[in-house]
Amino acid sequence: QAKERGKNNFQFYSSNLNGLSVRKMELEIGLRKALENNQFTLHYQPQMSLVTGKLVGLEALIRWQHPEHGFIAPSEFIPLAEETGLIVPIGKWVLWEACNQRKAWESIGLCDVPIAVNVSVRQFEDDHLIEYISTVLDEVGLEATQLDLEITESIMQNFENSTVILNQLKELGVLLSIDDFGTGYSSLSYLKYLPIDKIKIDKSFVDDILYHSNQGVMVKTIIDMGMNLNFTVIAEGIETVEQLSFLKENACKIGQGYLFSKPLPACEMQNYLLNRKSGAPI
Ligand code: C2E
Ligand code: MG
Ligand code: MG
Ligand code: MG
Repeated sequence: QAKERGKNNFQFYSSNLNGLSVRKMELEIGLRKALENNQFTLHYQPQMSLVTGKLVGLEALIRWQHPEHGFIAPSEFIPLAEETGLIVPIGKWVLWEACNQRKAWESIGLCDVPIAVNVSVRQFEDDHLIEYISTVLDEVGLEATQLDLEITESIMQNFENSTVILNQLKELGVLLSIDDFGTGYSSLSYLKYLPIDKIKIDKSFVDDILYHSNQGVMVKTIIDMGMNLNFTVIAEGIETVEQLSFLKENACKIGQGYLFSKPLPACEMQNYLLNRKSGAPI
């Protein structure tokens, strides 16, 4: 009994005091190997016009299939990848894979909407980012206007550098979106000085839209101001028809969320695109 408890105590100690950093170290080592071992894959989630019901975009979202720990969510490894700088090579892989897949679907007549790719602020510190993106577009043969880069408001922390890079990206012709809008420090009036095309209202606002009138007011305000400033406004994380109705009533034009579809592996997305084409219900 005592021995048993002793053992448990040891495990308790190891999993709670050191466990976190052990897990983190394991993750970091694994992350370094993941690229060469092809353990990353992309899932794709549709973005829908709330006006016509048509597909207007696809967002690529990374997934990590770890050989021992199984599926690891991006929320767990993206922050670590950012901390270690590994997000730079990982981000390059994502850009390549997403553009390549988008082009492949275009080539078989399945897709003519932009592909959205999440870009970390750390990638903005990479001097070769612009050159890399331009090379990928060239080699894949994808129009710049078919690539939509999603960045978060954290780029505002280094406003000057970010402004330079965003302007260079705009010159390339890619679309620029602000992801998770409303969770950071930026204001819409600040964003109008940047060459931004879209803002994505964060899921947390959409979640509470109907239960907290404050959130509803926030969402209305973001939609109105966004439209007045000529941004395309898209709502993230739509799960219910009630949320959808609210957004439609308040003139939100684009939406994304489980209500339409979860992010799907490439082969399932391909079927989704095929079914849409043949006119079958989604
Ligand atoms: P995000 O870019 O804001 O992506 C939206 C997240 O919300 C995705 O989670 C998506 O699966 C999830 N989502 C979409 N609709 C719904 C919904 O209706 N309900 C719920 N509960 N969730 C919904 P995911 O794929 O786990 O990605 C989380 C975050 O990880 C992303 O947030 C993004 O910030 C980051 N991320 C994902 N892929 C990449 C990548 O390739 N590069 C970088 N730098 N970050 C990435
Ligand atoms: Mg995103
Ligand atoms: Mg988001
Ligand atoms: Mg997010």
